[in-house]
Amino acid sequence: MKALRKIKPAYGCMQLVDIPEPVTAPGHVKVRVEYCGICGSDMKFYHWTQRPGMNIPIPVTFGHEYSGVVTEIGEGVTNIQVGDRVVSETPEIFCGKCEQCRTGNQLLCKSKRSIGYQVDGAMAEYICIRQELIHKIPDSVSFEEAAVCEPASVTAHAVYDKAHVQPGDTVLIFGPGLIGLLTLEHAKCCGAKVILAGLSKDEERLAIGKKLGADVVIKTDQANVRDEVMKLTGGRGVDFVFECTGVGSVLDEALGTLKRMGKMVLIAFFKPGDIPIEMWNTVVNNEVEIVGSYGQRYGNWERVLKLMDMKKIDVRAVTTHIFDLEDWEKGFGITERQEGLKVLLKP
Ligand SMILES: [Zn+2]
Ligand SMILES: [Zn+2]
Repeated sequence: MKALRKIKPAYGCMQLVDIPEPVTAPGHVKVRVEYCGICGSDMKFYHWTQRPGMNIPIPVTFGHEYSGVVTEIGEGVTNIQVGDRVVSETPEIFCGKCEQCRTGNQLLCKSKRSIGYQVDGAMAEYICIRQELIHKIPDSVSFEEAAVCEPASVTAHAVYDKAHVQPGDTVLIFGPGLIGLLTLEHAKCCGAKVILAGLSKDEERLAIGKKLGADVVIKTDQANVRDEVMKLTGGRGVDFVFECTGVGSVLDEALGTLKRMGKMVLIAFFKPGDIPIEMWNTVVNNEVEIVGSYGQRYGNWERVLKLMDMKKIDVRAVTTHIFDLEDWEKGFGITERQEGLKVLLKP
């Protein structure tokens, strides 16, 4: 079968190669991949600037955001059938014994090995995945939409589990990229007022944000974000900030917009050394909470699939390109140059 793989531990070094189809192990199902999205972290993997300690065996197949159809079930699989339309969570290997695993947080297990990095991923015709990670796609949700479940679940975790946004809250989102826009959709599901902040070069993305329900858009290179936010909130500040840029200089700007006892949720990763916070005293003085949000959990996937089924979130607006897997270079190029939002590959 065709598979897009990292073939050397260095910059680039990706190739579409022919490899044997995976064998369906006990407790696993084999899925024919319909679509697989290109993620921002795939670009880091491409550049080989992945976080230390990721322990990646090479060669390995890319891809962790996919949808597909079950074509074979392994020994001991009972609740999944051939023909089921599915998506899956990403930690193919975890210890099952540690505190994180036993509390449903397998993504934070020290022994976690995720598809698309430490084990073969879904930028291929087939993937084999353990049955516990599977979620079934509702009939009304297309394969294209379902392939965006992973980033939609990541942002669901940030909004529902980490922030606990309530109706009437004011939310400020820095960064109108894919993650920022999906965060916006979830915040709107909560009944929040949403301010979306981005650069003027992000015009198109900000316009999509408007369409998806952003109440106010601020161009951070044309206006003082803090002044604008204070005007909009009667000097109070916002209840929540979601940091979706990974740009260190945004942190001080963000802290300046938060209400006293407000909360900032960090979703994006920063470059090492690029975290210049001058406002630590504001954190203490205003009892600001800063929390990290990493990945997604079982409940986030189920909720996102329901929200897609109910048409409460729309991921079609953020899916800008679809290419055949053979044309992966076009897709990675568009993602690299930030010319689109979600790019899907079709094996
Ligand atoms: Zn991803
Ligand atoms: Zn564990």
